[in-house]
Amino acid sequence: MSESLKAKLRYASTAPSNEQIEKIKAVLKKKFNTDDIEIDVYEDPSIGGGFVVSCKNFEYDWSDAGRAKQLRAELNNLSKKNGDRETGKIISMLSSKVENFELAIEDREVGTVTWVGDGIANIDGIEHAFYGEIIEFEDGTRGMAQDIRDDHIGCILFGNDTGIRQGTRAVRTYKEAGIPVGEAFIGRVVDALGAPIDGLGDIKESGYRAVEEPAPGIIERQSVNEPMETGILSIDTMFPIGRGQRELIIGDRQTGKTSIAIDTIINQKGKDVICIYVAIGQKASTVAKIIQTLKKSGAMNYSIVVSSTASDMAPLQYIAPYSGTALAEYFMHQGKDVLIVYDDLSKHAVAYRALSLLLERSPGREAYPGDVFYLHSRLLERSSKLSSELGGGSITALPIIETLGGDVSAYIPTNVISITDGQIFLESDLFFAGMRPAVNVGLSVSRVGSAAQTKAMKKAAGSIRVDLAQYREMAVFTQFSSDLDETTKNQLRHGDVLMELLKQPLEHPLAMHEQVIILVAVGAGRLDMIPVKKVRAYKEKLLTFFNTEHSDICEELQKSGDLSEQLKKRILDCVDEFNDAENKLLKEEIEKSHGNN
Ligand code: ATP
Ligand code: MG
Repeated sequence: MSESLKAKLRYASTAPSNEQIEKIKAVLKKKFNTDDIEIDVYEDPSIGGGFVVSCKNFEYDWSDAGRAKQLRAELNNLSKKNGDRETGKIISMLSSKVENFELAIEDREVGTVTWVGDGIANIDGIEHAFYGEIIEFEDGTRGMAQDIRDDHIGCILFGNDTGIRQGTRAVRTYKEAGIPVGEAFIGRVVDALGAPIDGLGDIKESGYRAVEEPAPGIIERQSVNEPMETGILSIDTMFPIGRGQRELIIGDRQTGKTSIAIDTIINQKGKDVICIYVAIGQKASTVAKIIQTLKKSGAMNYSIVVSSTASDMAPLQYIAPYSGTALAEYFMHQGKDVLIVYDDLSKHAVAYRALSLLLERSPGREAYPGDVFYLHSRLLERSSKLSSELGGGSITALPIIETLGGDVSAYIPTNVISITDGQIFLESDLFFAGMRPAVNVGLSVSRVGSAAQTKAMKKAAGSIRVDLAQYREMAVFTQFSSDLDETTKNQLRHGDVLMELLKQPLEHPLAMHEQVIILVAVGAGRLDMIPVKKVRAYKEKLLTFFNTEHSDICEELQKSGDLSEQLKKRILDCVDEFNDAENKLLKEEIEKSHGNN
């Protein structure tokens, strides 16, 4: 004969009657499909009142504490649904709820903690948890099931682990980990779980989204067809980005990676794009500075910052980009365009490595777990341009990766390069030589963006990339030669001017029409006689001249997005007009200084 099933019944003060025990037995018989059940009865004042029955790894909670918890959850739901937190209403809701309150008889799967530390808990006894399920601990701390094994589950903790120790009970919630989402998040700074950290009070959520969500399928997408302008001349001309594209920003430390992303956010002003900046493992002071910059330029009005700093535990750093993406998806599914920056995924991979090693997954190449590629691909695949039937919203992703000594062939860089649709490669040497932004023209690419580039930009940019490549080659060859022929000299001068034009100070994004005007002028060689040192000042002056004296041209460019031959000629005429006026001024100045002598 098989052994009878043992159940444990704990009661607070009054032991259950025989009739009650028979009822409980009936419930258990049905659940476990057996007739032979033994119930041991114990006293346990800690449950407050009522009783708790546990059998195998399931638990039926008829205690006062359990009731209070269910009621609390119900009320929370109610107040969320009504979106109202006024005291009067809450009291009336409360009384109606209490009158009609019925305790649901639900079984819960319960386990016990066998090991806890560094933001990880191993739990024994829970057999059926699914990946990504929220697990709740006795002290109210929540975690997410991350590692499901035969004999135990590994759980990452979203809170302090000081209240959890060996033997602490952990309960399945049957809910997927997610974060609150909604319009009210715009303009706010939140932590990795969506809780506000900017001291501006609660955020009224309009929904809840799972942090892990499958990416849109092929049918649900369309190819990129609208530009995501960065306002940075060297990127918009040569490596254009489209809405829905994933463009990696890669480079060594301190090469201006974050600056490019932030400038791109600043450039979205008035362009109907919601921007989300996800800080992963950054210094808190760096994040504070970024928020300051965004506020100063007015970009915070259409941005959300999701921040997990270096001092946050690895689980929070790990979850932050997924939370940011959940927010982005909320807007994308409403047909809006979203730009999301992950700063940076190298630190994300390190946080994941720490988690995985603690979860005792075997390390692979460079000690990263084997699924680190999948980690980033399932994140970046969620950026897409949705089909028109689905509203046509998009998520454009700018992930950032930090390299060591410019080594793009390391594990994480090669992974992310292969996942994204191109990369902006930033180089320390260029950065220190004063070429800022330090975009390496040879190693950077954008695979899909040119389909989304405006016609005007495409026509104006023309051969700039080839010109620059030729210039660099020639500059290397002619480095040590003194007598150069006139054509070579001209070509070199043209290249020098081009390089100088591509330097751009921080927080100075250029509008599309400004970029086109500059490109048309330099393409026709109108800037070649300007001393290199004066090129930047000349550019500023020329653009002011166009914006004030010839705003019709600027407007036409912006409106039509095209550059007809006729419009090009008009631009060049205006440039000539400007040059004549400048030359005259110069001549007068020279004459004046001669006269004075
Ligand atoms: P980290 O590796 O520390 O994250 P990073 O690569 O993100 O650095 P940034 O923080 O963007 O680099 O920039 C590094 C420094 O270079 C900053 O002080 C920034 O002000 C300066 N900088 C970046 N871009 C430019 C630019 N276009 N013109 C002038 N200064 C710049
Ligand atoms: Mg940075």
